[in-house]
Amino acid sequence: HDEEAASKAAAINADTGAPTIFDKIIAKEIPSAIVYEDDKVLAFKDINPQAPVHVLVIPKFRDGLTELGKAEPRHEEILGQLLYAARIVAEKEGILDGFRVVINSGASACQSVYHLHLHVIGGRQMNWPPG
Ligand code: IMP
Repeated sequence: HDEEAASKAAAINADTGAPTIFDKIIAKEIPSAIVYEDDKVLAFKDINPQAPVHVLVIPKFRDGLTELGKAEPRHEEILGQLLYAARIVAEKEGILDGFRVVINSGASACQSVYHLHLHVIGGRQMNWPPG
């Protein structure tokens, strides 16, 4: 039954390409604690932090990047910018000595918001392997 429940959850959490809550955060229609922003990238605190530092880094223009698994060659530049923004966030948050960057891509990786995002997590000892 675990498998059945998991596949139901996967179906509910599949990528539909519909707008997400992150569009409202980008438009500042709903508030967020912004850590870093430029013309292409927005970084804000996760509402359900998994560590003392937990920041999401997202592209301001989703451009089909609902999940990393759907990236295409035109996305190479923004993907690099997102990763460098993760480093800026780590420095701003004082965790440059040790931090983790996670991208959940797809339902079986527990992605829940289909607007590509990097999780920047730190401020405590991390464990490996992840769950
Ligand atoms: P995912 O599970 O990898 O897709 O990550 C989605 C993340 O977005 C989760 O860690 C949520 O806690 C976070 N999240 C969802 N809604 C909001 C919000 O309104 N503000 C900030 N973070 C959010």
